[in-house]
Amino acid sequence: MTSLLVTNIGELTTNGPQGTVQHASLIVDEGRVAWIGGESHQPPTDARLDVEGRAVIPGFVDSHAHLVFAGSRAVEFAARMAGEPYTGGGIRTTVAATRAAPDQTLRANLARLVAEAHRQGTTTIEIKSGYGLTVEDEARSLRIAGEFSTETTYLGAHVVPDGTDADAYLRLVCGEMLAAARPYAKWVDVFCERGAFDADQAREVLAAGVSTGLAPRIHANQLGEGDGVQLAVEMQAASADHCTHLSTKDVDALADSATVATLLPGAEFSTRSPYPDARALLDAGATVALATDCNPGSSYTTSMPFCIALAVREMRMTPAEALWAATAGGARALRRDDIGHLSGGARADLTVLDAPSFLHLAYRPGVPLVHTVLRNGEPICTP
Ligand SMILES: [Zn+2]
Repeated sequence: MTSLLVTNIGELTTNGPQGTVQHASLIVDEGRVAWIGGESHQPPTDARLDVEGRAVIPGFVDSHAHLVFAGSRAVEFAARMAGEPYTGGGIRTTVAATRAAPDQTLRANLARLVAEAHRQGTTTIEIKSGYGLTVEDEARSLRIAGEFSTETTYLGAHVVPDGTDADAYLRLVCGEMLAAARPYAKWVDVFCERGAFDADQAREVLAAGVSTGLAPRIHANQLGEGDGVQLAVEMQAASADHCTHLSTKDVDALADSATVATLLPGAEFSTRSPYPDARALLDAGATVALATDCNPGSSYTTSMPFCIALAVREMRMTPAEALWAATAGGARALRRDDIGHLSGGARADLTVLDAPSFLHLAYRPGVPLVHTVLRNGEPICTP
């Protein structure tokens, strides 16, 4: 099969020049969007998919996920819900379980999570290391991540492992560990936060990564105000992620830069924390993305529809802003122009919803609304 007509689309969101099209048809040719039009004058194709009036959106681009790990922190979650505060210290529990797990355990867990994301409409997912924190375990995490995504991120600077001197660990992260991770990574990331890495240390990590050809992104301003966002802008990072505690200066810096503000409301939900001020960012003109932050400690969800529902209900984004942020915004955060939209020439990554409109993503929270998912024009999820 080379060309496919997707027809009888009730509402097509393109995120492109054509905007939203009612009663649309779309042709996929060789994995790309080749044509968008109405119900009449459809060019001939090899195959046909009648979606019976359902809504079609670009596949979700989840630009922030930590999927290479072993073990569970369900008990820690329950304790937190019973009143214990989140400090980030639980990362060490996952590090111990991940180091102890054989490759096939990590691979099977990752495959399960990626399949789960596909079933919820995600067609691109970024995958970070950061639970190995030794030269071998970081390289191994990224090697396995690369079997599932080209968007792989070296996060050796997630936390300083127990029993390690912070300065010695920083040298390792910027030296031997980076060299071992480099062949398997596209991005370099750092957890810039009190209790993890300060701005000077984070700058050193990002600069070392950039010097080997990795592109920078950063965990910034999650647990409190700090220098992470300013550093992201200074380093021309593709994205500053979390942005939960921002000063007016931070909002302005993001709005005046090409750095995307990636909001991860699953983390605030799962740690019962205040949500980021999405409205301040949007109203200032910053580019906003939404992602899951899927990880076993502070946000164990692969569901972009859930994040959209949170963004609308808790962060006062409009449903249209939230959908854009979860698709085109994620693509910007990964510096990709071939995904996150359904204009001519884009990769044919599209999600068919079991609903007449994308509005249902927030209107019907928690309901499995994904009907069919195509990536490169091929089905990766079918009813
Ligand atoms: Zn994260």
